[in-house]
Amino acid sequence: MFREKICELADYARLGGVSDETMEELANPKKRYEVKIRPRLAGKQTSIYVWGSLNCNPHSTGARPYKGGIRFHPAVTPDILDTLGLDMTEKCEIAGLPFGGAKFGVAIDPTKHSKVDLRDLTEKATEQMLRDRILDPDFYVPGPDMGTNSEIMFWMYNKVAEWNSLAKLPNVAAIVTGKPVECDGCPGREDATSRGLLMLLTEYFRLAKIPKAGSTLAIQGFGNVGMNIAKLIAEADDLGSSYSQYKVAAVCDIAGGLYNPQGLDISNVLRHYGERKTFADYPNDKADTITPGELLFLPVDILIPAALENQVTEDNAGRISASHICEAANEAVTPTAQPILHENGKIVIPGIIANVGGVTVSYFEWRRNRGERRHAVDYSEDLTWVKTELGKIMTTMINRVYLKSKQTGWSLTAAAHVLALQGIEQKLKMKHQ
Ligand code: NAD
Repeated sequence: MFREKICELADYARLGGVSDETMEELANPKKRYEVKIRPRLAGKQTSIYVWGSLNCNPHSTGARPYKGGIRFHPAVTPDILDTLGLDMTEKCEIAGLPFGGAKFGVAIDPTKHSKVDLRDLTEKATEQMLRDRILDPDFYVPGPDMGTNSEIMFWMYNKVAEWNSLAKLPNVAAIVTGKPVECDGCPGREDATSRGLLMLLTEYFRLAKIPKAGSTLAIQGFGNVGMNIAKLIAEADDLGSSYSQYKVAAVCDIAGGLYNPQGLDISNVLRHYGERKTFADYPNDKADTITPGELLFLPVDILIPAALENQVTEDNAGRISASHICEAANEAVTPTAQPILHENGKIVIPGIIANVGGVTVSYFEWRRNRGERRHAVDYSEDLTWVKTELGKIMTTMINRVYLKSKQTGWSLTAAAHVLALQGIEQKLKMKHQ
């Protein structure tokens, strides 16, 4: 997967006149981490690897860390982490965040383990990464990704804090982002990826002069990102940017989903899913049941893959009916699917701009954790600030990418990658010359 990604980027590098030296930096992660830990899983001491890929830091490492989520998922491999680490380097560059890119993970299915197991695994991983001087507010700062959440980020923070009488890290709260608000987290982090995506999508429709009223969406994945996209559409959002003009026609998780071409009653779906953790048994006069595979090909306007990478491939790209695909999940569209979609007139809004909201609000959190501590009475004021700032970053980014795509005739994907690669090159030159 990583090699394919590098080949795809090499084409964009040629388009943008980006040098082979820069591509070499990106193609050879600065550090690959692999360590065996022995947590207690299902009552038994078990050996399991923690892997990580620190891709490239165009900023001054030691003052500006590598940033990227930690994933708990059975399909985690070092190759996937290399790819997602590279995506993070590009994402941080294009959003103007002063971080390098990284990704960490453990090949485990968190849905099959108790909280006690997951806490032991998280704490053992944290201790080892601290011993190996990987975790550090100025070196590598994790955040939540697939299979991890604010509670797991809190366990990491708490473990580091316990050790800190020995480790003596300054600004220890800045060791990890995506923490609960009441434990040094940032208001608005939980739904930041989803909010950022909707902000960017809405600005894109304005620029492209496509009326968004009544646009139908199919969302694949109903976790932090997918569920919050649906939730924000169902709620009348603040800041005057109501997303109620979108209609969520289909949702699914790994086991199955729901479809109603007229739009699902999201409040009802959320209540049902909240209580039962499944879409099964949803009243069939309100929606049809579908498989996760079927969701991809539904006749909707916008397809939002919000689960795993490699969902739209060269084998199924020809069957996509949606006119727009907005990647909430990184690498949901494979490099080989891109030309087929382009040929069929489908517009892909790439993950390196669409799902940057999470790391952006993580940046706000990290920055704050290095200084003042806010009190709960400040939270609503903070939340307004977070939304406004996030909105500025997301709209500036899509405006740059859209303009580049219009000026050159390149796809949004090509324009976004070229801008990211050129920005990385410029910073690397400043750092190394
Ligand atoms: P999550 O673990 O909270 O939820 C994942 C969801 O996907 C679950 O509903 C699961 O049932 C579903 N799923 C898994 N495999 C599936 C399949 N084959 N078909 C259909 N559904 C499937 O994860 P998340 O945090 O919502 O992340 C989703 C995606 O968004 C990931 O690719 C992640 O890297 C990306 N992302 C997340 C963030 C963030 O802030 N959490 C930020 C940027 C990008």
